[in-house]
Amino acid sequence: MTGATNGKHEQADERIADVLVPVAIDQAYSYRVPKTLSLAAGDLVEVPLGTRMALGAVWSLRDGQGSNLKAIAARCDYAPLSGNLRSFIDWVARWTLAPRGMVLRMAMRAPFAATPEPIRIGIRRAGPPPARLTPARMRVLAALESGLAFQKAALAEAAACSASVIDTLVDEGTLETIALRPEPVAVPCDPDFATPVLEGDQAKAAAALAASVAAEDFSATLLEGVTGSGKTEVYFEAVAAALRQGRQALILMPEIALTAQFLDRFAARFGTRPAEWHSAVSPRKRARIWSGLAQGEIKVVAGARSALFLPFADLATIIVDEEHEAAYKQDDGVSYHARDMAVVRGRIEKAAVVLASATPSIESRVNAEQGRYAHVRLPARYGGRAMPAIAAIDLKREAPSRGKWIAPTLAVAMSETLERGEQGLLFLNRRGYAPLTLCRACGHRFQCPNCTAWLVEHRFRRALVCHHCGHIEKRPEHCPECGESELTACGPGIERLAEEVALLWPKARCLTLSSDFPGGTERLRRELDAIADGACDIIIGTQLVAKGHNFPLLSLVGVIDADVSLSSGDPRAGERTFQLLQQVTGRAGRFDAAGRAFVQTWQPDHPVIRAILSGDAERFYSEETEQRRRAGLPPFGRLAALIVSAKDRATAEDHARALLRTAFALPPNAKWKLAALGSLPGEDEISVLGPAEAPIAVVRGRHRFRLLVRAPRNADLQGFLRAMLATAPQERGSVRVAVDVDPQNFM
Ligand code: ADP
Ligand code: ZN
Repeated sequence: MTGATNGKHEQADERIADVLVPVAIDQAYSYRVPKTLSLAAGDLVEVPLGTRMALGAVWSLRDGQGSNLKAIAARCDYAPLSGNLRSFIDWVARWTLAPRGMVLRMAMRAPFAATPEPIRIGIRRAGPPPARLTPARMRVLAALESGLAFQKAALAEAAACSASVIDTLVDEGTLETIALRPEPVAVPCDPDFATPVLEGDQAKAAAALAASVAAEDFSATLLEGVTGSGKTEVYFEAVAAALRQGRQALILMPEIALTAQFLDRFAARFGTRPAEWHSAVSPRKRARIWSGLAQGEIKVVAGARSALFLPFADLATIIVDEEHEAAYKQDDGVSYHARDMAVVRGRIEKAAVVLASATPSIESRVNAEQGRYAHVRLPARYGGRAMPAIAAIDLKREAPSRGKWIAPTLAVAMSETLERGEQGLLFLNRRGYAPLTLCRACGHRFQCPNCTAWLVEHRFRRALVCHHCGHIEKRPEHCPECGESELTACGPGIERLAEEVALLWPKARCLTLSSDFPGGTERLRRELDAIADGACDIIIGTQLVAKGHNFPLLSLVGVIDADVSLSSGDPRAGERTFQLLQQVTGRAGRFDAAGRAFVQTWQPDHPVIRAILSGDAERFYSEETEQRRRAGLPPFGRLAALIVSAKDRATAEDHARALLRTAFALPPNAKWKLAALGSLPGEDEISVLGPAEAPIAVVRGRHRFRLLVRAPRNADLQGFLRAMLATAPQERGSVRVAVDVDPQNFM
């Protein structure tokens, strides 16, 4: 800054750009802007980074002498990132303590370097019919009658012939090949394509949501409606309101809920499917959605949580469907909660945020009760349909015989259901055949070599699999310890349940569905749609089938083990079990058949089970909320977890203890007060608990210790964490510290 005597520094009108690059750093790097380049904040640019070139985003521009800096290489021809999106990225990074570059990376996932569209080849009629007309050739000509061009595969399918029939017709000049235009990513949605006739409560709710969109300002609304009440129908009206203004809408869903069924339903309402955004969408398509949104050409996206980082030009509303879903929390890379960040993005974009659920999170419930969110309710099912009748089966009184899992009462109900030609769903949240395999001769248990976890038998694949790290080994015939062949499966998984079903109902068509289902998302989607069409009688499934789907013929739901998730050490165990049971039993009787559900449990008197049986959600929510209030847990207090891991236990533990000491060595500060170790925290004090060995102590060969930071709602939790990490000892050797603000997973 001192006297610029060096001749090179004399030009006063030099500009410097601070450029954020999508790598794990927080700082924007400064670059000189060549005089020939006109730049604005948000522009995407190519910059030298170390020894390579990188794509980055201009975060800010300023005047200054930049001759000692490297120069920006080029401005790229992509849509710039809006000021709103940049603010959002900064906000998420501040909240999660993730490096800003990593958050930017989520906003830049897709488009760049996507190769151009391949040319699609079409076939159409060009000349006179061939001299020799076979039935196959006639079918081809008939299919092309309309004059429209077909892709070859599609034409072969339509005419039920082989590709060679078509090739010959091309050679003979009857047909010709032409280049087709790329498939559109999304055709315009029409808000008035098929307007529904809404019932009283639905109409009121829809009007409230439409008004919140019309206000063109930030708002958050909890749309709470029992399963089958028509929440989707109602929030579509918020989307319609956005479309009528010519603005954009985002519908977030837990990934698997993004079924063809949902997309078709959207198309029935708006005339076309929305643009889709999730991990199975091809990079090329993503590139087009990305730029289509930035240019405002695409109006509606339905997507998984990562869709929250898309470059909307003019976002009017964000719908978070099934807002209570744990799948909205991302745990690897940037730990963020998409539901909470949707509210943040809505605030920045001045958009109407709608959180929809039959079983809202305690957090959203409390926000609604305290008036921070509007509360719109649908208390009854659409069309006067009844809620399913739910009964408990007390396993203490009516235990299935050894090695069996279906109690007689449930079996009788299933037989009745099948006789009526209706469907039954058996729900068990355990993948594989059996959660534990042991040797009856010596007691040996099969454990993962990398994790503190039993290996789960997958009989279908004849393997033992770790559900934490993916380790897989062949299931041996003999015990590796004692050599005897006395290996026994302990406990049920859905594959084992399927065996029992096949014995009990040999004639029933049975489908077993979990995330292990071979064939990926596409095949799974098709199976789910086939179930809706009545292609099977008994569905056996994990939580994958429990949520969000509409199975019209399903009238019976049996929960095999309601206690599985009650006993985990998670502070949200009660809430999660309540939501899961409510969702899965709510699959029954959504259409014409009256629904029944049976819940097999060892604890019929547990408050959560009782709430499910009585249908008294209100009471459950008020008790659970009161407990959270007393314990200072979210939303009444805030949590952050620090997970320290290392290749050996002692190193991880030492580092975790050092982190704890750092916290207590921080100088006194006006923004937070730290409770003394071992004493009960005062109302305004932050407390640090642990370090404790993680419940799953070793994952992927890394030993893990956890510290839990609990802060009053209005304390500067992030400021405290930042100060703590700034003075913490360096992460040396194999040590890693992961920060998880608002943790959902305590394992
Ligand atoms: P939810 O999401 O609350 O579980 P849905 O929106 O899936 O409920 O609605 C349940 C079923 O009722 C769906 O098949 C839906 O098409 C139907 N439905 C709801 N409201 C209406 C309406 N107003 N007109 C026609 N069908 C409706
Ligand atoms: Zn493992």
